[in-house]
Amino acid sequence: MIRVNPTDLTLSAALPSLGTWPGIADGLSPNEPPAKVVLSYGLGVDSSALLLRWIHDPSCRDFELDDLAVVVAMVGSEWDQTISDVTEVILPVLAEHGIRFIQAGRGRSRAGNDGSGVVIFADSRTPHGLHAAGAYTLLTEMHSAATVPQTGGRRACSISSKGEVLDPVIAAITHGLPFRHAMGYEAAELSRARKDAKENTATRRGEYPLIEWGWTRETAQQYLRETTGREFRKSACTFCPFALSTQRGRDATFAEYAKNPDAAATALLMERTAISLNPRQGLIRGQRLSDHLRAAGLGAIVDRFEQALADEPHALYELRRGARPTKKNPAKTKPARSVRAIDVGSVEEMNAWLTGEPLQVKVGLDAYGEPVLAPTATVLGEDGIARAYVAERDRTGAHQLEHFFVVAPAHVQDKVTDAGFGAWWEMVTHTDMSLFTPPDLLATVSTRTESTPAGTGAARFDAPAVGFPDIDIDVATAGTAIGAS
Ligand code: SF4
Repeated sequence: MIRVNPTDLTLSAALPSLGTWPGIADGLSPNEPPAKVVLSYGLGVDSSALLLRWIHDPSCRDFELDDLAVVVAMVGSEWDQTISDVTEVILPVLAEHGIRFIQAGRGRSRAGNDGSGVVIFADSRTPHGLHAAGAYTLLTEMHSAATVPQTGGRRACSISSKGEVLDPVIAAITHGLPFRHAMGYEAAELSRARKDAKENTATRRGEYPLIEWGWTRETAQQYLRETTGREFRKSACTFCPFALSTQRGRDATFAEYAKNPDAAATALLMERTAISLNPRQGLIRGQRLSDHLRAAGLGAIVDRFEQALADEPHALYELRRGARPTKKNPAKTKPARSVRAIDVGSVEEMNAWLTGEPLQVKVGLDAYGEPVLAPTATVLGEDGIARAYVAERDRTGAHQLEHFFVVAPAHVQDKVTDAGFGAWWEMVTHTDMSLFTPPDLLATVSTRTESTPAGTGAARFDAPAVGFPDIDIDVATAGTAIGAS
């Protein structure tokens, strides 16, 4: 049985807003002395072992615990076990020893260098709760942008969710004075430590106690086992594509998904939305999580997700994408994209746009000022998703233009990658389509007189009013079904 929780479907109701939490200026305790040692706490095995050893074994440190501040950036999608281990084991020890513990997060998509956009959930020497839900979470960002965390190049998701949050917090609590910045890199992570050391400044000095002690992940795990009686897990988002990119990581993650199908549904929803607007956005380095789950014998989770998703609001989106020359070097290009919602309703209502008479798109005006309409052709992708493509905008040509309509979960925000997109698109397609102007769009998408989707009448032009769905798969029942499949 699939149990869908339809409550709080609006993003604003489901998530705390920036205004709910104080910023750095108001959220940090004004009575604290400057922190001399700062630990960036990742909630997982390595930094938990480091922290507990510092507390329980004074011989391994050369500072007083009063001088320590433990800081954590809440990304918003930790595994339940991580949350309970930290809440039940670590926080009581911090409170017992009066160690300063600061929980921060993003209140919007990008935090500023000055700390704007960073929120403080708590700054306390007697912590009693973990604000694991975060505020503006990585999941919110991915859903809104219809994408998945990117595995190529630098870990942008980690930088924006953690680094850009903690940097201004650390600057504020150290008051511009010299400080030691401890990271929980284990002995096999020497390259990360070397890279981090390049961030040292006149006031900041990176330190890597686990490496100094020669502690590996296994040593840290063994220490936690002996001191707490628990098996801590490596901290990660439940949908982390880096964890899913290796067979070992997939095995571990899928074992958790089998016990907690809701976590799998969250990842599947992210992937489905991203793939709908870009078929190349599979969560596992372009490959689809859904395919891997089926191959691993967890197809029942995918089936249940599909059933639950069918009851959620959907939207008809228009996607335009191309390779746009950069201003600095016109010989180079960067991806440019526009996405906007044409209509919102049930999945049946939205699919009706693609299954009846072909949609037509205005591509210009004729000599008499009448709109010239180009047909679209609906193609069922190998991913099972139907897209209505505008003729000759098929990623070929100098600008690799792509232009299609697709039905997807209704939580993607209307957005262009940059302000000049409309003018650029007009120039390269010779169309006069302007962005986000309802009267223009009325003439842009041809409504079909005989096959207008039931209940819609004509296209609506407001951005999706719904947030992302809270898809809740009954754990016990799903587990039974998976075992039987
Ligand atoms: S755990 Fe993975 S998905 Fe989450 S912030 Fe880190 S790298 Fe990104």
